[in-house]
Amino acid sequence: MGQSPTFINFSPSLNSAVQSALKEDWDPLLEAAGTSGRQWEDNAPCASYSSDLFFPEVEHPWSDPEQIRRDHSSSLREPLSVCASCPLSVSARCLVESLRQEDKYGIRAGLLASERRALLTAWKSRIDSEAVSAALRGVPTALTSLEREEALSRLSADPSLNTDAAARGMAVSSKYLFQLLRDHQQHLCDIADPIHASIGGASDE
Ligand code: SF4
Repeated sequence: MGQSPTFINFSPSLNSAVQSALKEDWDPLLEAAGTSGRQWEDNAPCASYSSDLFFPEVEHPWSDPEQIRRDHSSSLREPLSVCASCPLSVSARCLVESLRQEDKYGIRAGLLASERRALLTAWKSRIDSEAVSAALRGVPTALTSLEREEALSRLSADPSLNTDAAARGMAVSSKYLFQLLRDHQQHLCDIADPIHASIGGASDE
């Protein structure tokens, strides 16, 4: 991973948690965000502003953030200062929720969309082992595609796991889960024997 960006208008604690997350240590950010329900939204200073303020038209996920901050400082001042006044637990939760929803656009926790892009990429490539375990126990859990693969690997490797519970946790039917498991095992066979897989693939055409 390249050099971590330095964020401005950002609390030092949140900055440090984000820098850790970019180095694949998500604990500080997740701990700061907490797990309570949706009360955090009641304490969000942005709640009394128009949401448009946090979606500046001049900025998108592929912008150059330094240039945007330099060229549009006056229009960004207000949303960034609202975020700067946000309590740490709320801004951390706001940021984590934006990652969970794979929210690419808008300002969150004082970060422009373009500044959150690397964090979102890192989030998508992480595997939350506890989330996978919860899904396998039957607790409905939103899994990323990598986490879903991890769940399928565990199910394939451990016959004591309950597939009906896993189907519930992964929000799919039992029949569809068996299809996913078959595909997963076939994929593993193809990786183990790529020559046979390519011959098989060619003869299927
Ligand atoms: S950090 Fe999130 S919750 Fe807090 S003011 Fe900014 S956008 Fe609102």
